[in-house]
Amino acid sequence: MTLAPDLLILGAGPAGSRAALRAQACGLAVVLVDENADAGGQVWRARPPGFELRGPGMNPDAAAGDALRAELRAQGVVCRFDHKVWNVGTDLRTDLVGPQGLVSLAPRALLVATGTTERVVPFPGWTLPGVIGLAGATILLKSQGMVPGERTVVAGNGPLLLAVAAAILDAGGQVQAVIDLASRWDWLRTAPALVGRPDLVRQGLRWQSQLRRARVPVHRRHAIRRIDARADALEVHIGAVDALGRAQGEATRMLSTSAVAIGNGLSPSTDVTRLLRAEHDYRPELGGWIARTDADGRSSLPGLYVAGDGAGIAGAAAAGWHGELAALACVHDLGALDAPAYWAARGQLQAQWRKAARFGRAMAGLMALKPGAVESIDAQTVVCRCEDVCRADIDAAVREGACTMNQVKAWTRCGMGPCQGRTCGDVAAQLVAAQVGRREDVGYFRGRAPLRPVSLSAMAGDYTYADIPIPKAAPL
Ligand SMILES: Cc1cc2nc3c(=O)[nH]c(=O)nc-3n(C[C@H](O)[C@H](O)[C@H](O)COP(=O)(O)OP(=O)(O)OC[C@H]3O[C@@H](n4cnc5c(N)ncnc54)[C@H](O)[C@@H]3O)c2cc1C
Repeated sequence: MTLAPDLLILGAGPAGSRAALRAQACGLAVVLVDENADAGGQVWRARPPGFELRGPGMNPDAAAGDALRAELRAQGVVCRFDHKVWNVGTDLRTDLVGPQGLVSLAPRALLVATGTTERVVPFPGWTLPGVIGLAGATILLKSQGMVPGERTVVAGNGPLLLAVAAAILDAGGQVQAVIDLASRWDWLRTAPALVGRPDLVRQGLRWQSQLRRARVPVHRRHAIRRIDARADALEVHIGAVDALGRAQGEATRMLSTSAVAIGNGLSPSTDVTRLLRAEHDYRPELGGWIARTDADGRSSLPGLYVAGDGAGIAGAAAAGWHGELAALACVHDLGALDAPAYWAARGQLQAQWRKAARFGRAMAGLMALKPGAVESIDAQTVVCRCEDVCRADIDAAVREGACTMNQVKAWTRCGMGPCQGRTCGDVAAQLVAAQVGRREDVGYFRGRAPLRPVSLSAMAGDYTYADIPIPKAAPL
């Protein structure tokens, strides 16, 4: 494998994989990297080798993923799966850690297609065993047909609520209740985006009728207030919320269950572009902070491109077209495609992308962070679970003068743990902004290597202690 490809693509989801296919077809030497064992990303996740899922409706996205993986193999795209990107330098040199240790690549151009991270607005009990992310639940369901528990409460906001509840029923599990922050009207408002997408209308109706047939209660405009662990069950207390997600009155109902899948939307993954100090903009309607790009994914830094949900949430279908657009821009910028061919292909891809993004953007609106839900977090609730930092610690830091996310991090260690703030960053920033000003003013955690946890033995490699040269002490 060349260690100096024309184009290195980070992330083999729909965006990265389609980008690799397009760039290679245009003659570039491409390497595609992903921490997973195969291509497909989050939505078209591959099953472990030899693992078959049986039953109606099991992993409806499997066929799309299988087709993509077959195309990558047929085109002979060079892939580095099971490799985590843990560092990227300003010269775009990219360091990976994989089963054989460390690898460094020095590409001419870098395309970041690292997707999104799940967001959960904390409440007492969100870190208990048995409480998992909604998006995380799709990993269990899609890769191995596993249900989160014998009985599951599914809660949060956005389309993954219905997708996960239906997938649990398909897998033979029991959904005890769906707790939706949104109202029926919030859902109805997305209807215009469904025009021209009968496939999605059918899918939505199928999910609804599955829930009705299984007599799953749906509590709209409600949220989980707290979860208590009992000897053999989780007690989930729920209550009403207003349109901003703010708690209204006391908890009104208690459900006893074995698992909870909860998610409050997705945030674009910007760890690589933040590490490289690219320009970013706060765009809540696209999921939060995103790298500033032109319509073709060119960032503010030469040779650096961004595509897919990591460049603003628009869903899997749009991610694929966006990946191709960014790859085409890169092919053109590297001089491998003349202007007429570039503009002709670009026009077609833009039209496809716009059509797909319309629906994805409407869904992103349903998943947007609700400021009232963040406002309702109790003082003693843990916000940063890696470092056990609770809301009161963040509020105290702000009172003492911290007014940016990096100051809050230095004061409290919030965002300093192994996840590097991917889980807590958005909610913590919303808490700080509520006291200090706008989200734009408080900024975001500076990107830092290692982007993923790397063991010291992987970094140091094999050595014999006795062979380490120890300099003699200088004569006094
Ligand atoms: C956990 C999860 C589950 C989801 N499930 C669904 C679903 O069931 N249905 C649905 O419609 N949408 C789902 N989504 C949203 C969905 O991911 C997107 O709409 C779509 O997959 C976006 O495609 P993408 O190519 O931009 O990113 P992704 O598909 O997310 O692909 C990005 C890839 O980059 C890899 N990556 C990121 N950082 C690194 C790194 N440092 N080193 C190596 N590899 C890295 C990731 O592992 C991933 O494979 C989910 C999102 C998440 C976070």
